[in-house]
This record gives sequence, structure tokens and C-alpha cells, in this order.
Amino acid sequence: MTEKRLSLRAQTEKLRASLKAAGLRSTLPRVQLLRIFREKKGHYSADELHSALGERGVLLPRASVYNAVNDFRKRGLIREVDIGSGKAVFEDAEQAAHHHFICRSCGQIQDIPCEVVHSPCIDHSINYARIEEATIIFRGLCRECRYLERGSNSKEAI
Ligand SMILES: [Zn+2]
Ligand SMILES: [Zn+2]
Repeated sequence: MTEKRLSLRAQTEKLRASLKAAGLRSTLPRVQLLRIFREKKGHYSADELHSALGERGVLLPRASVYNAVNDFRKRGLIREVDIGSGKAVFEDAEQAAHHHFICRSCGQIQDIPCEVVHSPCIDHSINYARIEEATIIFRGLCRECRYLERGSNSKEAI
């Protein structure tokens, strides 16, 4: 192990620094919100963030969480992930560009590494248009759901 685990205090300092660099005051709720994104690289809806904050003892009105998420997005700390469902989910913007796999059965989202890493990774020429981003959504069945489906099919076959 080359990477030393940062103490909680050092982690908090890092989060505060990120908030300041983004031009936001580092209040406790904002630090906790950013911690959720940095600790576990997930994809969160504003509602999930509202409950995750509640579990950490940060009890905020839903509207305040929505506002904070919006501020983070505008300041480039997090980005909105296009999962094509109309539901807004967000992820840490510090991660390299990647694509997403969405399970059509359970809805879970998994990151798929992008070979090219910079945007756009696919560039089609359209007259006079500047393509800034190409998003690929892979859809199918995740490992668990494939397993479940196989299980139920084999029962039917018998
Ligand atoms: Zn699934
Ligand atoms: Zn992602």
C-alpha cells in the first residue's frame, strides 16, 4: 500500500479547499455533501443525497439540498449524468470521462471506462457544428439480474 489513508481532519481540509476553489463557502452541510461524492464514486439523485445527509445527521429541508446540488453542478464540482430517463443523477466531476451501463431490470448504473478519455470521444462531422460531448449509454442486464433471469428461466424449462 503506497497510499496513506488520510485522517478525517485532513480529508475535511481537502473538501474545504475544493469548496473554496469552486468559490463556495465551506459550510458543514456542503462539506458533508461533497464528502458523499468523494468517498464513494456513485451516481446520486437529489433525493438520495437528501437521505444520505440525513443519515449523517445533517437534517436539511429538501429544497436546500436541491439548491446545494445545483450550486455544486454550476461550479463544476459535480456533473449531471445523462441516463436518458429524465431522472437527474449526479456524480463527482473529478473522475475521468466515462460512459454508463444501465440495467434495464434493476436500474443500477455502472461506470464504463472510456478508451479515449477526452470529450468528445466520438466526433462525427456535422456541418458547422462543434461537438463538445458524446455520451454512450449501454443498456442490458447487470450480472445479478442476468443470474436471476437465468434462474427463473431454468425453472420454467423444467
Ligand atoms: Zn440489474
Ligand atoms: Zn459515472
